[in-house]
Amino acid sequence: MANFTTHIGVAASAGAVIAASGLSAQLWPLTQAPAIVLLVALGGIMPDIDADKSHSTRLIFTVLAITAALAALALTQTSLSWLGATCLALGLYVGIRDVFAVVFRALTRHRASWHSLLAIAGVMFSTVTISFRCFGQPARLAWSDGLAVALGMLIHLLLDECFSIDLEGARLKRSFGTALKLFDYRRPYATALMASATMLIMPWMPRWPF
Ligand SMILES: [Zn+2]
Repeated sequence: MANFTTHIGVAASAGAVIAASGLSAQLWPLTQAPAIVLLVALGGIMPDIDADKSHSTRLIFTVLAITAALAALALTQTSLSWLGATCLALGLYVGIRDVFAVVFRALTRHRASWHSLLAIAGVMFSTVTISFRCFGQPARLAWSDGLAVALGMLIHLLLDECFSIDLEGARLKRSFGTALKLFDYRRPYATALMASATMLIMPWMPRWPF
């Protein structure tokens, strides 16, 4: 499978191309372009979130923790005092980065449920919803954010499959077929949980704007 540098490098490059293309096609404003690059790059390492002690895991949980803290600050602007909002944001940051990450690693297995098209749908729908509900992005930009993460994740799965082909020996490695799959059919409970969570998010998403 591809390593961290390859994953983030290829995804960030693809993100830059997509961001520039969307800009010239007037799909989004200039302020959205950096977000598209970052989200495609983040999607590019997202499926390795379950790899124990990897660069990807640490980076993804740090980004998730920062996103949650910022979302909390945005959502509690009017309902909490400055001190209360800051304590909540700090609690979420530490909780996600140092507690939830450890529990998540203990409960998941690498290259299982998170290397699947179902996981891509779940993460895409969550991103669209968070972008729309927590950060007040208009539907069009919220969907662009979600599609950017989904593209990054798809690139990751395709890269993993490409690295499963041993070109010199002209044969397929044992890992071939484990990265790009519809869902993790060997773990029905994890798959059912992921499918249910994905469906629960759907009513909160804005309508498809394109
Ligand atoms: Zn992978």
